[in-house]
Amino acid sequence: MRKRILFLMSDTGGGHRASAQAICEAIGFLYPDQFEILIEDIWMDHTRWPFNQLPHLYPWLSSSGTRWWMVLWRVTQRPFLWKSIMRMTDWVTRRGILRFLREVQPDIVVSVHPAMNHLGVEWVKQICPGVPFYTVITDMVTVHPTWVCPEVTGCAVSTQPAREQAIAAGMPAEKVAVCGQPVGLKFAHLNGERPVLRARLDLDGERPCILIVGGGEGIGRVYDIARSVAQTVEQAQLIIVAGRNKHLKQKLEAIIWEIPTQVYGFVQNMSELMGAADILVTKAGPGTISEAFIAGLPIIISGYIPGQERGNVDYVLENNAGAYAEEPVEIARLINDWLHPQNDLLEQMKQNAARLARPQASLEIARLLCGHV
Ligand code: UDP
Repeated sequence: MRKRILFLMSDTGGGHRASAQAICEAIGFLYPDQFEILIEDIWMDHTRWPFNQLPHLYPWLSSSGTRWWMVLWRVTQRPFLWKSIMRMTDWVTRRGILRFLREVQPDIVVSVHPAMNHLGVEWVKQICPGVPFYTVITDMVTVHPTWVCPEVTGCAVSTQPAREQAIAAGMPAEKVAVCGQPVGLKFAHLNGERPVLRARLDLDGERPCILIVGGGEGIGRVYDIARSVAQTVEQAQLIIVAGRNKHLKQKLEAIIWEIPTQVYGFVQNMSELMGAADILVTKAGPGTISEAFIAGLPIIISGYIPGQERGNVDYVLENNAGAYAEEPVEIARLINDWLHPQNDLLEQMKQNAARLARPQASLEIARLLCGHV
């Protein structure tokens, strides 16, 4: 009989589900037909108001409500406070969640969300004692204390700084494995033939290609940045990905562009776009940054969500894999500078980005979770 793996997550941002899906894809690749997988948004599907509203609240908290997000972030840095909040949450929500666990009877449980670890371990201990419980920390560098639960069976992190933080926060060193950020297998099998990709994507073969992305939701100053680049980097071509932001896509499509430009909504071929590009402009999302490392793509980070994405900015800068600039005019100036024929910075940053790449991350995590079952 197939073993059952349950992923505990919530759609607070797109990254937790994307990470779970990437790991599932890797499990299917390594162990075909051996596992049945469930990815469950615990807050949305198994709790009541107000807990089931958290995923709806998060887009506001991570954009115009960042001040409130930072209050929550700081308050929950103190173990006494967040453990009290968790105890209250548990008291209100546990009935529905325990009922769900009793129905599912998983063989392995994996948390890819910071709010699922301490409670998750207790819920699983109560309903299915002895079942292995893993945490996959989906924030690339900055590890919030809510991620760290020493009682778990094992824990996968993306980077060495994340491992050090997890251990400093109380995780036993032997339980923490640096596997990299889980990204889709398309990135593990990236076809490096840039001219082929460019031809397939109907791009100019000669012009430097600038890829502008605002995460899965198309957030940040994507429009202003694209306008500034188009008006000042005459020798380039642009790919702009608006993600799920329909309003942004419409606005971009209404422009008569000064340089060759392709506008997309939510794309399924990010690996191809990155493989064809020369420079990426993005917010500091861990998924997009890790994918860019694999594609060997220098990054201009144009913004970050305070708290969990701040460390990603430092990581890119400390490793000389890119730069940070918020102002569209400054971003266009940097691109012009990097593209100057006598400037070898772009080539150096490409190599530095590639050195940070972990294309096998999802496969490594899949082996960690399933290898001993
Ligand atoms: N993405 C995608 N298609 C799009 C836009 C984004 O597949 O049109 C993917 C991107 O490749 C990355 C993820 O969505 O894997 C975004 O994750 P990230 O952590 O960068 O940011 P988030 O959206 O979670 O804030």
